[in-house]
Amino acid sequence: LENKENIVIIGCGASGGTAAQFARKTNRKSNIIILEKGKYPQYSKCGIPYVISGIIPEKNDLIEFSEEWFKKANIQLSLKTIVEKIDTKKQLIIAKKEEKRIEIKYDKLIFATGAKPFVPPIQNLKEDNKIIKGVYSLRTINDLEKILSTIKKSKKAVVIGAGFIGLETAENLYKKNIETVVIEALDHIMPNSFDIDMSKVLKEKIPKDLEILTNHLATRINKNHDKIKSIIAKNKKTNEETEIHTDFIVLATGVKPDVKLAKEAGCEIGDAGGIKVNNKSETNIKNIYAAGDCTEYYDYITAKPKTIGLGSTAVRQAIAAGINSSGGTYILPKGFLSTYTSEFFNVEIAGVGPSQKDLNEFDIVNAKYNGLSHPHYFPGGKPITIKILVDKPTGMIAGAQAIGDKAAQRINTIACAILGEMDIETFRKLETAYAPPVSPTLEAETIVCDIISKKLKKI
Ligand SMILES: Cc1cc2nc3c(=O)[nH]c(=O)nc-3n(C[C@H](O)[C@H](O)[C@H](O)COP(=O)(O)OP(=O)(O)OC[C@H]3O[C@@H](n4cnc5c(N)ncnc54)[C@H](O)[C@@H]3O)c2cc1C
Repeated sequence: LENKENIVIIGCGASGGTAAQFARKTNRKSNIIILEKGKYPQYSKCGIPYVISGIIPEKNDLIEFSEEWFKKANIQLSLKTIVEKIDTKKQLIIAKKEEKRIEIKYDKLIFATGAKPFVPPIQNLKEDNKIIKGVYSLRTINDLEKILSTIKKSKKAVVIGAGFIGLETAENLYKKNIETVVIEALDHIMPNSFDIDMSKVLKEKIPKDLEILTNHLATRINKNHDKIKSIIAKNKKTNEETEIHTDFIVLATGVKPDVKLAKEAGCEIGDAGGIKVNNKSETNIKNIYAAGDCTEYYDYITAKPKTIGLGSTAVRQAIAAGINSSGGTYILPKGFLSTYTSEFFNVEIAGVGPSQKDLNEFDIVNAKYNGLSHPHYFPGGKPITIKILVDKPTGMIAGAQAIGDKAAQRINTIACAILGEMDIETFRKLETAYAPPVSPTLEAETIVCDIISKKLKKI
């Protein structure tokens, strides 16, 4: 090991694993070592909700890169290894592997420690400072295992939080014939991504017997002996309390970057609570990089720091960390667009950029259009609703949200326009491919821009 450079990565999630792969591609000679405290090699967190319903049959199907894969790639993966301390002066890592203390010298270090679920303050949620049995987060295979075994003896569930993970979890519980209620504190579903009008369109597509209580705070859990009996949801407007009987509860209330180790090592933590990194994924400490959910980076539109929590951006930052730590060069854009997608009850949704509430310092004009995937005379057209937000002074697209046919593809096109700094006058003239069985002559996303262009010219 002696003469080669040691690149050490803490964490083998999407960022850790990706950073290792790109470090290896960039430098064939270095020692690349991943230290992971869990027992699984790199697996997909994004697939976890679909194991609940059985769409993904087995939890082990989530594993993307096995221990053998890492071995073949000449990357040393050490599982069940928890990093406890970093001495940045000696460039030394102190870790524990099954009670054995290990010390590893690093030349380059990459933090890929991810994030931890946020636990909201709910009465009786904890006993002796531990979350009670029957209340679960959904972040790891370990959490999944607990939910899978609970489901076998349950009929009812409550999911707290109506963001992506909450809704994906609720849908998969519903598909497993578990009577499910979602409690959301804010006034609409997908509150951090979608505007209220788009959320309403989406809510219409969700079956009515999957109850969603928006504007409700989960306040108290009631137990019957050792089992959960119910949860109280308080209407934030009227203060009226509703008791919801349930066998178990899933917390989908967001995450917080896991920055403990990095902070102790002296890495700067930013205003959004993540490790501060630049466009090369470098931290403020020499030879130390960070990537993924443990970091914060800038929003492309607002230029404000934010934690992102998307697998796609985690992988981008990890590519930068892997390449730059191994002698190559990879520069990230000045901020992240935060392009996202999902599917609820066969309806695709997607978006890019901030929602309207996060653009309140901008002068925004917007339009929404309901179209069809095919010309009206061609059978089988599927609905598409698309909303675009444009910065009035510059005519640049600031964000977009879509529900329905090929939502992600449409949003990806808009993401391309934003990254290419294309203004709306150019984008609205985009020539899109047309044939009746495939698409209409004018696509919904360019029609919305025509509407906005008209609005802008009247102003
Ligand atoms: C249910 C669910 C669904 C999702 N769906 C999507 C989706 O559809 N699209 C999307 O873009 N994103 C999605 N995400 C988000 C995406 O999964 C995350 O952004 C991504 O996993 C972040 O990867 P990461 O490597 O930064 O962090 P993690 O995957 O959290 O990995 C961090 C790793 O570090 C290890 N670690 C931490 N501390 C130490 C230590 N001291 N010593 C050793 N190891 C340590 C942890 O054990 C962990 O394995 C979803 C997330 C969840 C939970």
